[in-house]
Amino acid sequence: MKILVVNAGSSSVKFNLYESSGEKLLAKGLIERINAPDTRMKYSNHRGQKMEKDITANSSEAAISEACLALMDKKTGVIGNLTEIEGIGHRVVHGGATISGAVRISPAIKQVILDCFSLAPLHNPPNYEGIEACEHLFPNVPMVAAFDTAFHQTMPSSAYTYAIPHDIADKNQIRRYGFHGTSHQFVSVAAAGILGRDLDTLKLITAHLGNGCSITAVNCGKVADTSMGLTPLEGLVMGTRCGDIDPAVVIFLRRLGYSLEEVDRMLNKESGLRGLAGSNDMRDILKAIANGSTAAKLALDVFTHRLVKYIGAYAAVLNGFDALIFTAGVGENVPVVRAMVCAQLTYLGVHLDPALNKANALTISQKGAMPAVLVIPTKEELMIARETLRILTT
Ligand code: ADP
Repeated sequence: MKILVVNAGSSSVKFNLYESSGEKLLAKGLIERINAPDTRMKYSNHRGQKMEKDITANSSEAAISEACLALMDKKTGVIGNLTEIEGIGHRVVHGGATISGAVRISPAIKQVILDCFSLAPLHNPPNYEGIEACEHLFPNVPMVAAFDTAFHQTMPSSAYTYAIPHDIADKNQIRRYGFHGTSHQFVSVAAAGILGRDLDTLKLITAHLGNGCSITAVNCGKVADTSMGLTPLEGLVMGTRCGDIDPAVVIFLRRLGYSLEEVDRMLNKESGLRGLAGSNDMRDILKAIANGSTAAKLALDVFTHRLVKYIGAYAAVLNGFDALIFTAGVGENVPVVRAMVCAQLTYLGVHLDPALNKANALTISQKGAMPAVLVIPTKEELMIARETLRILTT
């Protein structure tokens, strides 16, 4: 069964086509800068063929149509026609407090996604548009939505409740939701496989360190706590987001005369690594440090300090842990971040093997050391394909 996974964002669409038997990735692509004069598609297939070209696409539907043409292309395509696609999985960011797993898309589920527009104004609208586009392009193909928030719905109320007046919180659905759930779930399942244990016997700390960063404490397959909150702004230091700050900073900035929009942009787009050292890209930060930049060194120190703090907190929440998992761009590729963090965790029994860490090996802790430290490449799209298959075949 061939399953198409669609991740429709505000200006881009990512697509992955899987053959579900054997979980084989047949082709993947990215269409960037939709509705701009320089829309571009990058595409590759399982035969190693690559294609990159300028296209015209002024909507998600136009972009997904272009993706379909690429998948059927005589030279680089992987299917003869679209009827070969028997299921479509959509990434949706926010499912609110009612969605606790991937679900088949129905009018009621579409309404839930619509109802969450105000909670994820940048993400849910384009996700919804992607679903409607596929309904037009594939009228008879069943579709599934996999939500970034769903895995975190297993969190206890002590972890998701903010200590603000409960009537206001309840009325306005203000609580911790958590994001990157598909990634945290994928690496948790993978870690159980690597450790040769059942997930429901394990205490894990999963650190997703990409442009957006979040960390989750997973107790026996259920989320005990996670760092992102009502929105993806809370928690760790990120590429452009500040993560945790005193909420009074917002009040203070408003009193100084900054508008709501300015504060929003500052904290979401101009803070984090970019705010501290001018770039949201960890590679730039590392280069700048090598060239003697003290601002870049401080940015790295703030980034790792925050991570260490969260790991210590989650070790306490879990009352000890079996494995720490690093994933996503920085987690998978930057040994120095892992080394700096783990050097502060020896009191918990964490001991890295420097050579394995430098090689980005799957297990980077010393042989026999507990907790184990793992580097697991995240595959959110594969997780969505798995969930789509599961829902459409059971
Ligand atoms: P996104 O959240 O956009 O999916 P990614 O998971 O791709 O983000 O992570 C992006 C971050 O990972 C950037 O800070 C980038 O610098 C960093 N990164 C990716 N690959 C490497 C690498 N080989 N070396 C250092 N940093 C890397």
